[in-house]
Amino acid sequence: TEYLASANRYDTMTYKRTGDSGVLLPAISLGLWHNFGFVDNLQNAREVLRCAFDLGITHFDLANNYGPPYGSAEENFGTILKRDFKSYRDELFIATKAGFDMWPGPYGNWGSRKYLMASLDQSLKRMGLDYVDVFYHHRPDPDTPLEETMGALTDIVRQGKALYVAISNYNPEDTQKAAELLKASNTPFILHQARYSMFDRWIEDGLLETLEHHGVGCITFSPLAQGMLTDKYLNGIPKDSRAAKNMTYLNSETVQSNLKKIKKLNEIAQNRGQKLSQMAIAWILRHRQVASVLIGASSTSQLKENVKALDNLSFSDAELKAITNAL
Ligand code: NDP
Repeated sequence: TEYLASANRYDTMTYKRTGDSGVLLPAISLGLWHNFGFVDNLQNAREVLRCAFDLGITHFDLANNYGPPYGSAEENFGTILKRDFKSYRDELFIATKAGFDMWPGPYGNWGSRKYLMASLDQSLKRMGLDYVDVFYHHRPDPDTPLEETMGALTDIVRQGKALYVAISNYNPEDTQKAAELLKASNTPFILHQARYSMFDRWIEDGLLETLEHHGVGCITFSPLAQGMLTDKYLNGIPKDSRAAKNMTYLNSETVQSNLKKIKKLNEIAQNRGQKLSQMAIAWILRHRQVASVLIGASSTSQLKENVKALDNLSFSDAELKAITNAL
């Protein structure tokens, strides 16, 4: 059936400016790392994307190797774009990345100009796009000069294949160097994508300050620690959960070792009249530097639950203290 986006799609979402740029992002964005590959159900993927857009989520985050298999999330996304979102391209903000393992040999990984240029061309083909809105270097490369990697990002913008550029997983020091290089070449550098949740607070230790200083926004990933910061694991490991699938570092042992904390945090959330997932997302949005929280969702019901985080974003000092004490 033909998809007609909800007429109310912009009524409830909050949009936040990323850094000093002209770009507004939805406070909650959707990532396609899991649940969108050839191993997953395409119809479900399609429903989640439609539901997201109907909720005002305009930003979708991909990478060359999301799947599995590698490339398949982009290919599925391209299929769904063509079927459902053709007339909405200018309402969407689409990201992809290169930097992790993608193809065999010396040119399919890390941060060379050779890899980034070829990878983005492949991504555009898979998604059926002329350009992406933002292109990322996915992780720092200790062996390639930063000048080369940032130079490739600059030229990608000059070629019209990306409107803006971004980096991910860079420490504050390399972020500062990247910002200086990109500024010198007038390249629009708008985002740093970093893991951040109640279980991983590293960005509080300098990164957010560096980003603010350079007018760059932060978009945080794995806000729910891949599902641990929800109520799904309180009574065991559901069969269809990410921890049961054992595809990443999230497994039953990780869940088990965090269960005490999860239970304490769940109580704090209940006292706020919120789900734990919602509290986990709201807690991240308390930072003014965070333009968007990048969630994953395997169903439309998870997505709807998570977006309701926006209904209560304020924390008392006592609540913040209780959360820190629970960690
Ligand atoms: P989350 O921490 O939001 O985890 C999402 C998973 O948690 C879902 O797939 C689902 O797993 C579970 N979940 C979500 N909502 C609920 C809910 N309400 N109740 C119960 N379970 C829920 O984020 P991700 O780890 O998926 O990361 C989000 C995005 O960030 C990625 O898609 C990607 O775009 C980006 N990312 C970037 C990285 C980088 O290096 N730059 C690295 C990692 C991610 P299930 O139902 O399957 O158990």
